[in-house]
Amino acid sequence: MPWDGEDMPAVTGKTKVVGIIGYPIEHSLSPIMQNAAFAAALLDYIYLPFAVAPEKLEAVVNGLRGLGFSGFNVTIPHKTSIMPLLDRLDESADAAGAVNTVKVIGSSLIGYNTDGDGLIVALLSELDYIPGSEQILVIGAGGAARGGIAALCRAGAGKILICNRTLDNAYSIKSAMNSRYPETEIDVACLDQLTEKQLKASSLLLNTTSLGMKGEEIKHIDISSLPASAKLYDMVYSKSATPLVERALESFIPAVNGIGMLVAQGELAFKIWTGQNAPDGVMRGALDHICHS
Ligand code: NAP
Repeated sequence: MPWDGEDMPAVTGKTKVVGIIGYPIEHSLSPIMQNAAFAAALLDYIYLPFAVAPEKLEAVVNGLRGLGFSGFNVTIPHKTSIMPLLDRLDESADAAGAVNTVKVIGSSLIGYNTDGDGLIVALLSELDYIPGSEQILVIGAGGAARGGIAALCRAGAGKILICNRTLDNAYSIKSAMNSRYPETEIDVACLDQLTEKQLKASSLLLNTTSLGMKGEEIKHIDISSLPASAKLYDMVYSKSATPLVERALESFIPAVNGIGMLVAQGELAFKIWTGQNAPDGVMRGALDHICHS
């Protein structure tokens, strides 16, 4: 049973504190997910949201260190700017060029990125997809693409085609990945020049652009050109299917939106802070609960 926000556990002097910093922060679903999981796991933790303006970031990070936080999540616009303020970066954050989770050990701050690994977990659990030798077509070349592509490389992807509106941004990710993960072949293409042949050769289409959040279509992608065995993952999370997911399902291509990745990145952060697996299904249940209320 997910935590419904009514039986708030008592906060005492022993309660461990974690939270999320971003700007703005009101929209964040993480407090709902994490507090539900802490309550279900009977862990004496509390998770709080903090709106932190960019010019306050350094003072706040040092404050969290001084206040003895167990850790915190980091969201837009601080995912990259926080990196030089930390003591150490895990490979996941270094490769992604972004931090979304920090663990505090003593007065040391260690940065992780659980978004990419959350994607790998969601691909397996929701689409039964494991990266291998077949081409993965990534639409977009922003922060989410870079974290996702780094995790795909680590998970064994043999070939990735990055297709973006601005070709330079795709080249920049290709160059960062080539030096770090040379086993993965990476090509780039312009979004408005994506060919039928490139779609036909793809086993997974991964949307990492923000298109779809407000119902926007992604032009230039003819889903019906994907092979019948292909799958589609849309990182955009919304209450219902995104237009891209809808089109894929109409073509009998298994497809889901980014809710599973959001949950999986949260579960991985929970494990980093507590050392325990997050209770099964609780974060997802908490999100479903607010989405349907
Ligand atoms: P970002 O760094 O701003 O990148 C945005 C990307 O979208 C860029 O590749 C950009 O292309 C492309 N784009 C934007 N508007 C476009 C348009 N009109 N036509 C074509 N391409 C367009 O954003 P981000 O941080 O990567 O986030 C992207 C999405 O991923 C967001 O919806 C975010 O919520 C989602 N996300 C989901 C999860 C999850 O857990 N499910 C985690 C992280 C992010 P250009 O390079 O040409 O500008």
